[in-house]
Amino acid sequence: MLFYDLHIHSCLSPCGNDDMTPHNICAMAHIKGLDVISVTDHNTAGNLRAVSENAKKYNVLFLPGIELNTKEEVHLLGYFNSVDNAEGFSKYCDNYRQKIKNSPEYFGRQYYMDSEDNILSEEESLLISPLKLSFEEAVEGIRSFGGVPVPAHVFRGNGIINMLGFIPPDSGIKCIEVNGNDVPPKGYNILRSSDAHTLGDISEPIFSLDCDNNIASILACLERKA
Ligand SMILES: [Zn+2]
Ligand SMILES: [Zn+2]
Repeated sequence: MLFYDLHIHSCLSPCGNDDMTPHNICAMAHIKGLDVISVTDHNTAGNLRAVSENAKKYNVLFLPGIELNTKEEVHLLGYFNSVDNAEGFSKYCDNYRQKIKNSPEYFGRQYYMDSEDNILSEEESLLISPLKLSFEEAVEGIRSFGGVPVPAHVFRGNGIINMLGFIPPDSGIKCIEVNGNDVPPKGYNILRSSDAHTLGDISEPIFSLDCDNNIASILACLERKA
């Protein structure tokens, strides 16, 4: 059994606090007693390598992730079996980015960091802007890099049920994320992660996955028949 939080934003997400650094996130996950975490920045895998190195130091399993904002403004998480694959997918997403300039005073700063929490650079385009990829194209794209697509916070904000009213039946989605007391629809594996933008919001060890302590087992668990 693994206690998890698979939806955490680093300081590369405009809405993520500046102290959501690779080291701080992993240290907090360790303090809280989580077994596995994922960092899922908006439309980018840019800080995953630095987080992954810190996760190793703290003996926390790291699942490489991303949170896409699709053309329909639906939030879709993607989980990958390696940082390489997540970065490959992130690069693929670059082709579908709108070049809208970030306004740091309004949206917040977007920092690329190394594993020592040094700022490498600041992203100038607004990462949270919708990609020119439909939900179905985004699902296909994630799968083509060996990833697992998981619609985020489905009943809230930019969640798919809130935005479109349903989960496209042909999309092959097997796992969804729900929040708080939202009652999940039947027939899906369910994740309940924090969507933390601050260190304090990272989950306590409450929600767990019934799988082995490795990435392949977790991905298989998300994709198994519910
Ligand atoms: Zn979201
Ligand atoms: Zn999020």
